[in-house]
Amino acid sequence: MASEFDLISRFFKRPVPAGMLGGGDDCALFRIAPGLELATSKDLLLEGRHFFPDVDAFTLGHKSLAVNLSDLAAMGAKPIACLLGLALPSFDESWVARFADGFYALADQHGCALIGGDTTRSEHGIAISVTVFGEINPTQAMRRNAAKVGDDIWVSGQLGAADVAYRILAGSLKDDSSQGLFGLEGSLLAQTRASLECPNPRVFLGRRLAAHTHAAIDISDGLLQDLGHILQASGVGARIDGRLLPVHPALAQLSQADRRHAVLAGGDVYELCLTAAEDQRDNFERIGLEAGVPLTRIGQIIAGTGLRVMDDAGQCIEPLPQGFDHFRK
Ligand code: ADP
Ligand code: MG
Repeated sequence: MASEFDLISRFFKRPVPAGMLGGGDDCALFRIAPGLELATSKDLLLEGRHFFPDVDAFTLGHKSLAVNLSDLAAMGAKPIACLLGLALPSFDESWVARFADGFYALADQHGCALIGGDTTRSEHGIAISVTVFGEINPTQAMRRNAAKVGDDIWVSGQLGAADVAYRILAGSLKDDSSQGLFGLEGSLLAQTRASLECPNPRVFLGRRLAAHTHAAIDISDGLLQDLGHILQASGVGARIDGRLLPVHPALAQLSQADRRHAVLAGGDVYELCLTAAEDQRDNFERIGLEAGVPLTRIGQIIAGTGLRVMDDAGQCIEPLPQGFDHFRK
């Protein structure tokens, strides 16, 4: 039986950039550029709560880091390094190898060195906690409290796919399309699964937009809930035009209620919701093109409190999808 130290040295000790001290001592060491501040965030993922027990280990490694990089992206920070806390019921070598490959593939893509962590045996399933460190110009940090009346509200990417994949896997939504013309390739799950299990954190986009944005958040808990955090912190309200929402094309075959729930309330999205002055529209369009990520203007920040969403007919959607009523007037 391999030891804890074998596991760490075989799978989580890849070289770190020159000038950093990685795993192997009591602490890791790294610097940030003079004049910049350290941005840090942590997420905890539990088997059964945040991921299904049979999820592919490579995508789980990817997602464990992706959800943290998404927080750096939402602040406008540049990733530098991360720590990985891992609690495992057993040492399954091929599982750990695939997990590490998925984790490092995304870490390398974003220049985010794994510089340490902690590893322990678990009696209650897998637990994963990642801490990320990034650097940021403090005058450009996209704080939640910075939205201003009159701001445009923007969202990156497309909405709704992760919630659909989650509901199919959890058994609360039927994937009728798998029996259809397209076979498994065309199934609703096949079209939406990557959004849930392999999200792409919008790091480059967040860094480029930071100088042009007032407030931002990643919509990991759903558009309405997370936009609600911006509204509360900024003391403003918002109006969203439902016709403008960038709905993932796979959702076309769903009922209006399922589509609405997925787009407005569905979590695990890892897209950015941002507010910016009207005179930033050209910059947003240009940066979206450069980043290869669609940026869509979905509404406006207004005076007062509360969040209203208009449907196709221009009527206020009421009630808004369940669980998020407390953000309405
Ligand atoms: P300590 O007893 O000081 O907490 P550990 O024995 O837990 O140290 O870990 C030994 C070294 O391995 C440390 O430098 C730690 O950062 C690193 N390490 C432990 N677990 C992981 C992991 N999952 N990923 C990366 N590095 C790890
Ligand atoms: Mg330790």
